[in-house]
Amino acid sequence: MTSVVPKIAIVGAGPAGLTLARLLHVSGLKLEVTLLERDLSPASRREQGGTLDLHTHTGLAAIKKCGLWDEFQKHARYDGQEVILMDKNATELVHKRVTSTLQDRPEIDRVWLRKILLDAVPGCWINWGRKVRTVTDDGKVRLDVLAEGNGGEVKAEGAEEEGPFDLIVGADGAWSRVRQRLMPHVTPRYSGVSGYEVAIFEPTKTCPHVDKMVGQGMFIGLSDRKSLNAQRLGDGSIRVRSWSYCPETEAQETLNKLGKEGTREKILERFATWAPEMTEPFRHGDLDSLMHMTLYELPVGSKWDHQKGFTLIGDAASLTTPFSGEGVNKAMKDSLELAELIEKSQEPNDDLTLDEAVLRYEKLMFPRAEKLQAKTILYRDAMLGPNAPLGLFSDMLKTIAGDSPSFFVRLLGSAPVVALVYSYFWVYIQIGWAVRKFWRRT
Ligand SMILES: Cc1cc2nc3c(=O)[nH]c(=O)nc-3n(C[C@H](O)[C@H](O)[C@H](O)COP(=O)(O)OP(=O)(O)OC[C@H]3O[C@@H](n4cnc5c(N)ncnc54)[C@H](O)[C@@H]3O)c2cc1C
Repeated sequence: MTSVVPKIAIVGAGPAGLTLARLLHVSGLKLEVTLLERDLSPASRREQGGTLDLHTHTGLAAIKKCGLWDEFQKHARYDGQEVILMDKNATELVHKRVTSTLQDRPEIDRVWLRKILLDAVPGCWINWGRKVRTVTDDGKVRLDVLAEGNGGEVKAEGAEEEGPFDLIVGADGAWSRVRQRLMPHVTPRYSGVSGYEVAIFEPTKTCPHVDKMVGQGMFIGLSDRKSLNAQRLGDGSIRVRSWSYCPETEAQETLNKLGKEGTREKILERFATWAPEMTEPFRHGDLDSLMHMTLYELPVGSKWDHQKGFTLIGDAASLTTPFSGEGVNKAMKDSLELAELIEKSQEPNDDLTLDEAVLRYEKLMFPRAEKLQAKTILYRDAMLGPNAPLGLFSDMLKTIAGDSPSFFVRLLGSAPVVALVYSYFWVYIQIGWAVRKFWRRT
């Protein structure tokens, strides 16, 4: 039976959990909301780097509904949508410049997005240093209370049980504990792709040529089933990443075995056949910041049988790799849909129950998630496939055409158009390669 004032636990204060909490707060509904987050404090996460682009109908729609549009605009970077795509010979294939705020995918630093949302959620709702271990049949949450030890390490200081709750929402990301209840047999699997990240903190001082090359947005190099990219952040710094297919433990083991200096040499060795300017961003990265990244994903179409009192949003529900740039948007859209349905269930004139609202959310979310998971795999394979960067154009054309209801846009995905675009870029790449070879020789 649902309590008179429904009690809702949200596990995880990432973009999904915070967006849901904010939406429930602005709804003005009588709810008891508890947010449980394993981080010890808002500032305790070591790495929150990177930037995210929010999309009109998902991330941006959620921000608007949160009442945070003006705050978001203070940190949004519309020029951050600039994209430069090159092949390994430094032939520029695409250069998308953006100056207008009419473009619909502004970038925002991950840190700022988190701060905007955090500041907009009542502080008393958030319980820091609470690492959820499991959720029970009767709607309780078992957790470890974390604290910082004398040596700065994080350790469990005790255990607690919270609840019972009418609804527990798992927003606890890739390795969700709430998911273990809803889909006990489904665990994230290794996507086959790992990589490294390094930061350039003051590129204007340390490497002005790299600073210029990256532009205001993102620089992407694709070839040989590998990628090298560099992304501008709001403070002017740059995050550089490399991705490639390799065994699951290789990136971490390389770092453990060779240390940071040796790992960087190894990375540069792997890109030895690329034009030297393509690897410049990695060369100039601050070695202390070098870290490995191993990408996991949930099987396409993973879903669970509805269980009263539990649900999942964001990566907890449908973890994907970052290759379609949709993860955070999908997470915020989940929160938006779930919050709207919870709100509806609390309207006096609506006989929708809280449980029916959650079931309806799941029915809406599953096909949306499945489509996104499939698209992400397609993009990953196109970006890191043997035909990249050429394969990327044809695959993107097919996806855009497939998604569109317009007859003319669908024509873009037809075989003759795809072949034409492919041939155009093929010739372009060959000319670029020949010119550069000649240029270097003379
Ligand atoms: C390298 C990389 C680059 C990316 N780039 C992009 C991009 O450009 N665009 C994009 O849209 N998406 C991108 N993504 C994906 C995006 O980051 C995620 O989809 C998004 O963060 C999902 O939000 P979330 O709130 O569901 O999960 P998370 O952001 O993972 O948040 C989960 C929260 O739950 C907490 N938590 C975890 N376990 C527990 C527990 N047991 N108890 C309590 N709390 C817990 C965590 O501390 C965290 O605060 C990228 C991902 C990666 C790895």
